[in-house]
Amino acid sequence: MIQDTIIELKKELPSDVTLVAVSKFHPFQAIVEAYNAGQRIFAESRPQELLSKQRELEAHNDMPGLKWHFIGHLQTNKLKMVLPYVSLVESVDSVHLLDAIEKWGEANDKTTNVLLEYHISSDVTKQGFSKAEIMSIFTDAPNRYHHIRFRGLMGMATHTTDEAVIRADFRKITTLAGQIKAITNISDIIDVNNFELSFGMSGDWRIAVECGSTMVRIGTLIFGNRVY
Ligand SMILES: *Cc1c(COP(=O)(O)O)cnc(C)c1O
Repeated sequence: MIQDTIIELKKELPSDVTLVAVSKFHPFQAIVEAYNAGQRIFAESRPQELLSKQRELEAHNDMPGLKWHFIGHLQTNKLKMVLPYVSLVESVDSVHLLDAIEKWGEANDKTTNVLLEYHISSDVTKQGFSKAEIMSIFTDAPNRYHHIRFRGLMGMATHTTDEAVIRADFRKITTLAGQIKAITNISDIIDVNNFELSFGMSGDWRIAVECGSTMVRIGTLIFGNRVY
């Protein structure tokens, strides 16, 4: 079941769109099944859960190439549970967090790959930066952040069945990406040709791909409903 879905999704996704399997709230065995179907990138949203799955991974020395993304709200006192293990933090949602990641990177001599979470939805409960905040980060970045690589943007659409609303939300991300790429000397800070736009989940990934997503984060469709 997990394997079939992974294979189907890989067939349907354009080759330049990365599939991130969101394994939060699912057991490590589910990750093993997806791995055996060829999936390599998994995402977790809670530091403790990521850490315990990382320990299970270390005990399984036969899963080379597995990568973790972090997609949840990250508190600055939990960085050491997350940053050593992840290839990408997709959910950076404050300057306070960026500053803490920079400080951790300096102390540990490590560079962290991040996406900035852009608040595109009309749901007030969702996290993320405004457009103005993101533009000012990219304008200030050269002097402030030496241990952070800005790999792109992440966003979540409004929780609705109205496709027009979802499309309008997603287009905010591609529009902002265009504006970022137009900043003078931005190529010193970002890889303009590989600027990731992470949007699209189980319910809206097809729309996301049509709107220019380069990375979809899919949980329920692959692993079934989460048991909280
Ligand atoms: C849980 C989660 C997902 C996956 O959601 P599904 O609807 O299960 O595919 C994607 N992105 C983020 C940030 C999440 O927290």
